[in-house]
Amino acid sequence: MRATKANIYLDNLRDNIACIKSFLGKNTKMCVAVKADGYGHGAVRVAVASIKAGASFLAVASVQEGIELREAGIVAPILSLSLPLKEEIPLLLVHSITPLVFDEEFIISVNSVAENMHRKIPVHLKIDTGMGRVGCKPENASRLAHLIDSLPWLYLEGCCTHFAASESPEEDDVAYTKQQIKVFNDAIADIRAAGIDPGIIHCANTGAIFLYPEAHFDMVRPGIAIYGYFPEPGLGEYLTKKENRKTELKPVMELCTQVVAIKHFKKGESISYNRTWVAEEDCDIGVLPVGYADGLMRRFSPGLNVVINGKKYPVVGRICMDQCMICLGNNHDVHRWDKVVIFGPGEDCLNAEDLAESAGTISYEILCAINKRVPRVYIDTEKNY
Ligand SMILES: *Cc1c(COP(=O)(O)O)cnc(C)c1O
Repeated sequence: MRATKANIYLDNLRDNIACIKSFLGKNTKMCVAVKADGYGHGAVRVAVASIKAGASFLAVASVQEGIELREAGIVAPILSLSLPLKEEIPLLLVHSITPLVFDEEFIISVNSVAENMHRKIPVHLKIDTGMGRVGCKPENASRLAHLIDSLPWLYLEGCCTHFAASESPEEDDVAYTKQQIKVFNDAIADIRAAGIDPGIIHCANTGAIFLYPEAHFDMVRPGIAIYGYFPEPGLGEYLTKKENRKTELKPVMELCTQVVAIKHFKKGESISYNRTWVAEEDCDIGVLPVGYADGLMRRFSPGLNVVINGKKYPVVGRICMDQCMICLGNNHDVHRWDKVVIFGPGEDCLNAEDLAESAGTISYEILCAINKRVPRVYIDTEKNY
């Protein structure tokens, strides 16, 4: 296996699920978002570990992601969050992946594919209460629920919405989220008033799980918390204070590599493309076989520090496609092949949130960017796969 890899600590993932559960009522179900290959952690292993830890649904973005889970033998219900093409409906239904629906044309298409298969298919009605993405207008919810109810090959298994700013404790964001909850409750009431059972009601992403207990309903849909991050930096501290108990998530992924070469540089010699870094004094330079093609974004240089044996070393010069260089100074105890941690759960290294902050993005994007070229190594004291 190559030096650069992502260690995935499934024990941390289980601890994160336990933390999430400590915020839920005991009958609240969990639908774990494993889209984007489990936020870069490997969808299949995350799904299996999550189900063992009590999750009852999984959520994917594409039909292909759902098929990957089915081909791995996963039988739990899978929700497809994004809208597939009409041509993809047969594939979706063959693999028992449950679509979110929100318009008449698509509902009728799903019904006719279900009819061809002679199978009654569950669907969830998505209501747009203010995210502005997929979903029907709240005033159309009961009409669409009625349509689903009246079609012979469909049944309404659930109703849901999605929040735009539930992770933010800012006053105007709180007002916006509360309004979304109200609009959602009203739409559900309309559906009930039409004599239709809305089924499993769900809307809470990670932010709402921690900040809006009134939005938990029957099921919550955690994503980023499973992988060890709050959707907004500082939310952990905020919750610890507010709840008066330690609220902590543990990063699950550790991106690491090894020093593959150490070279001595003389004062005045430059490193990497565009010669953005020049040695101010004689020093040793370590070469790391990791670059932006692995997801270590070029814009992390300059500024990124990596950790070797508990000590920080700066990346110098531009990060290349497949490699980057670090300055070891001229009095160090780093050896060739030593382990280098780029980010992870450790106390002494950066985490994905730190990297996100330095690149002007969110931890989600840092994690998803670590791509298929980086092998995942699963570390699990339960050894139950
Ligand atoms: C990704 C996603 C989630 C999970 O969001 P997090 O912020 O990662 O918890 C929940 N619901 C939907 C519809 C999503 O797309």
